Amino acid sequence: MTVTIKFEVDSDGIALLTIDLPGRSMNVINAAVSRDLSELIEKVATDPAIKGAVITSGKPAFLAGADLDMLGSQAGSASVADMFKAAYAMNGQMRRMETCGKPFAAAINGLAMGGGLEITLACHYRVCADDPKIQLALPEVKVGLLPGGGGTQRLPRLMGVQASLMLLVKGDSISPQQAKAGNVVHELAPLSEIVARAKAWIREKGDPVQPWDKKGFKVPGGEGAFNPGIVQTFTGGNAMVQKETLGNYPAVQAILSCVYEGHQVPMDAALRIESRYFTKLMMDPSSKAMIRSLFLNKQAADKLARRPKGVDKFQVKTLGVLGAGMMGAGIAYVSAQAGMDVILLDTTIEAAEKGKAYSQGLVDKGVQRGKVNAEKGQALLDRIKPTTSYDDLKGCDLVIEAVFENREIKDGVTRKTEAAIPNLPVFASNTSTLPITGLAKSFSRPQDFIGLHFFSPVDRMPLVEIIMGKETSQETLARAMDYVGQIRKTPIVVNDSRGFYTSRCFGTYVAEGLAMLADGLVPALIENGGKQAGMPVGPLDVGDAVSIELGYKVREQTKKDLGDAYKPAPGDHIVDKLMELGRLGKKAGKGYYEYPEGGKKFLWPGLTENWPSAADQPDVAEVKKRFLYRQAVEAARCLEENVLTDPADGDIGAIFGWGFAPFTGGPFSLIDAVGVEAFVRECDRLAQQYGARFAPPKLLRDMAARGETFYGRKAKAAAE
Ligand code: NAD
Repeated sequence: MTVTIKFEVDSDGIALLTIDLPGRSMNVINAAVSRDLSELIEKVATDPAIKGAVITSGKPAFLAGADLDMLGSQAGSASVADMFKAAYAMNGQMRRMETCGKPFAAAINGLAMGGGLEITLACHYRVCADDPKIQLALPEVKVGLLPGGGGTQRLPRLMGVQASLMLLVKGDSISPQQAKAGNVVHELAPLSEIVARAKAWIREKGDPVQPWDKKGFKVPGGEGAFNPGIVQTFTGGNAMVQKETLGNYPAVQAILSCVYEGHQVPMDAALRIESRYFTKLMMDPSSKAMIRSLFLNKQAADKLARRPKGVDKFQVKTLGVLGAGMMGAGIAYVSAQAGMDVILLDTTIEAAEKGKAYSQGLVDKGVQRGKVNAEKGQALLDRIKPTTSYDDLKGCDLVIEAVFENREIKDGVTRKTEAAIPNLPVFASNTSTLPITGLAKSFSRPQDFIGLHFFSPVDRMPLVEIIMGKETSQETLARAMDYVGQIRKTPIVVNDSRGFYTSRCFGTYVAEGLAMLADGLVPALIENGGKQAGMPVGPLDVGDAVSIELGYKVREQTKKDLGDAYKPAPGDHIVDKLMELGRLGKKAGKGYYEYPEGGKKFLWPGLTENWPSAADQPDVAEVKKRFLYRQAVEAARCLEENVLTDPADGDIGAIFGWGFAPFTGGPFSLIDAVGVEAFVRECDRLAQQYGARFAPPKLLRDMAARGETFYGRKAKAAAE
C-alpha cells in the first residue's frame, strides 16, 4: 500500500497513479513519494494485467518540485559518493519508467515545477489542462541548483538546445500554451478531460519508447559539438552567463555544461553527467546557503514565523499615510492593492493628489501591459483618498508616517494624529535613520509605536524592516506583522539602533568604496570589484543613486547626536569635497559619476584628479573580500549588540533589503561557510592593514574559540 500515491486500475487495464500527499496542501517530492513512485513503477512494469499508466495529482497543483527542507538538509552534508547515489536515485527511477516497456502518460492538472515537471517529461505522453494560469518551469537555478531529475537532458531533446537553455538558465515559467508550441507537452484539454485523454492515448497508441531511445533520433534544431548553431549558442551563452553571473553562480555554468555534454551522448550516459554536476553543486556550500536563505527562511518569514503567539489576528481595513512623497505614495499603492482603504495626507491637497497620481501611473502601466484588469485598477485607485485633514484619519487601524526625515516635523504629525484619533491601535514610522525609541516620545502610548522601514521603490522591494522601540509591545509587533503579511511583504524584526540593521550595514558598503578611493584604488576597480563581489551595483554608483547629499546629512546628524563618540570614516573628506562642488548625486545630475543628457553615465574624471590612483593596485580578490567582509563584520556586530536576534533575519534582510551577494546566502551564511575562525583571522589581518572597522567583535572570537557557527547555534537553541 502506498501512502502518498493513490493507485487504481480500470477495466481496460490502465493504472491511474494520483499523487496526493496526506496533510499537505501541495505535492512535493520527498522520500515517501519517491519510495511510493518506485514501487508503483515496478508494479506497472511487471504486472502483465496492466497495459500502461497515467500519472496525475489529487491536489489543485500537479507537483511543486523537490522538498526543499529535504534538499537543504542533504546539501553539503553527505560524502560525495553518497550524494551522487542520492542524486542519481531519481534519474534511475525515471529511466526505469521510460524504458520498462509499458507506456506512461502524464495528466498535468496544475502547476508543475522542478521535479514535478521532470516526472512528466519522463512520461511518454503529456496532456496538460488548457489553463493559461498554470505554470510549468524548472526553477532550480534560482536556489543555486540544476534540475537533477533529467530536466537538463529531456527538455533540450524536446524543445531544442537553444530554446531549452532559455528556460533552464533563467528558471522562468511557461504556460501550457507555450509548452504546447515548444513541444514540451503533446496535447491541451479541458481540466475535466485530461485523465480520459491520457488514457485514450495509452489505449489507442501507447508507444512505450521515448523519441530519444529510437534509432535515428535527432535533437530538434541541431545537435553535436561541430554543429554551427550549437557552437554559436554555447559561445554566446557562455559569454552572456559570465557577464551576468561574474562567475558567482556555479549552477548556471553547470547547466550549460550538462546540456552541452549531455545532448551529444545517449540518455543513460547523459543522466549520469547530469547527476555528477548536480552532486558537485550540492557539495558547494553556496547551494545550502541559498536554499536556506532564499527559500526556507524567506518562506518562514513570509508566514510570519516570528509573530508573537497568543495575540489576536489584526486586520488593517483603513490605513492612514502621513506624507505623500516618494515613500508615502508607494506605501499607499501597495496597501490599496491589498484591499485597504487608504487616507493619504500631506500639507497641501496638491501634494496629496500627487502621491495618489503615483498609483494612477502604476495602474495605467499595468493595464497597458495587460497585467492589471482596468476595473480592478480603478477600484484600487478609488480606495485612496488624498487629504490634508487629520479628521479624515478617524477610523484608521494603523497610521504610518513618511514625512520629511526631521525630528520636529515627525513630532508634530505624531501629536496631531493622536489628537485626532486618541484610540488609534498602532502608529508606525517609516524613518530610515532616527531611533524609534526617541520618536515614540511624541506618542502617549509608546508601547503602540513601532518602526516600519520600507525600501524604495516600495512596490518592487519585498522587504519591510520592523523596528522595535524600547517600549514597543509584543502585541504591537504582532499587529505590525499582520499588516506586513496583508501587503505580502517579507518582514524582519530588529531592535532599535542608529540606522537599524539594513541602513547601518548597507552604509558600510558605500563607505568602504570611498575608503578605497582614499587609499588610491582606481575607481573602475572599486566599482567592478563591488559587482564581482555579488553586489547589484558598484558602491559609488549606489552612493549616487541614494544621493551623496542624503549620506552627508545622515552623517552630520550622527555627528551631532554622538558628539565625541563619532568615529570619522576614511572617506569623509571625499564626501565633503563633493558637497562643496555641488556634486550631490544622481538626482543633481552629477556625483561620483557624470550623467550626460541622453548619453551613458561615466565615472567623473575628477575622482582621480582629486584622489590620484596609486601605482600598485590590489588584486580584485582583495577588493571583493574587503566589501563582503566589511558588511559581514558589521552584521555580526548587530547580532552582538542585540539589534538583530536571529541570523536568519540578518541574511534575509541583507539579500532582500540592500542586495547583499545572494549566492552567499547572506552575511551570516558567508561567515559560517568561511568558518568563524578563518573569518576572524582574516578580519584581524584586514583591520591591521586597513583600519579598526574590520576588527572582529567579541562574539565572533568567542564563537571561533568554541568552534561554533551561527546556524549551528540557532539549531541548538531551537532544540533546547
Ligand atoms: P519625500 O520628500 O519624497 O516625501 C515627504 C513628504 O512628506 C512630502 O510629500 C512632504 O510634502 C510631506 N510632508 C512634509 N511635512 C509634512 C507634514 N508636516 N505633514 C504632512 N506631510 C508632510 O521623502 P521620502 O523619500 O518619501 O521619505 C519619507 C520618509 O521615509 C523619511 O523619513 C525617510 O527617511 C524615509 N525613508 C525614505 C527612503 C527612501 O529611499 N527615500 C527609504 C526608507 C525610508
